[in-house]
Amino acid sequence: MTQSILRDPAFFHFLFCIDQEHALEIRLQGCSCGGPLHQANYKRKPKGGPHGAVLDTTRFSLCCGVCRQRCMPASVRFLGRRVYWGVVVLMATTLCAGLGLGRGQKLTQQLGVPVLTILRWRQWWLTDFPMTKVWRNVAGRFLPPVTTSDLPGELLKRVVADDVRSAMVMIMRWLAPLSTLTEAR
Ligand SMILES: [Zn+2]
Repeated sequence: MTQSILRDPAFFHFLFCIDQEHALEIRLQGCSCGGPLHQANYKRKPKGGPHGAVLDTTRFSLCCGVCRQRCMPASVRFLGRRVYWGVVVLMATTLCAGLGLGRGQKLTQQLGVPVLTILRWRQWWLTDFPMTKVWRNVAGRFLPPVTTSDLPGELLKRVVADDVRSAMVMIMRWLAPLSTLTEAR
């Protein structure tokens, strides 16, 4: 089943490595003022991941040693300030779309996300996300176009990838700018 990926610690570790590598790249570029970027990482407590697994929840963050400006490298693990892992937001909204109340409730229990939270996420995908620059970039990749009312599930269906895992990683890479300060909304 597709949701079993959310119980796989190795998948979360893989996403961690992508974030770590990207944060290092950004750090090596340095600040736009020419100053050096120092690590200003912090821990987050994301919900919805594999039960009992010890996962590194570090949110990579950088701070300029000269102008003190903070820089948040894009992340494939966190979707803005949401308290759940980004992949949980993506997968739970996808799986629950169009389900009747009974099956929907059963699924939300399995996923460990309250129904109301998923409804709120769905609302975000349908109304706020289509207004973002990230969506305009992503939308341009698909022909015929993806209808916004089919978000986010249609992305998973349409993305060309070997398996669900690769598809999720690709989509999270597209969404990653939403986790930076400038694109956050
Ligand atoms: Zn600076």
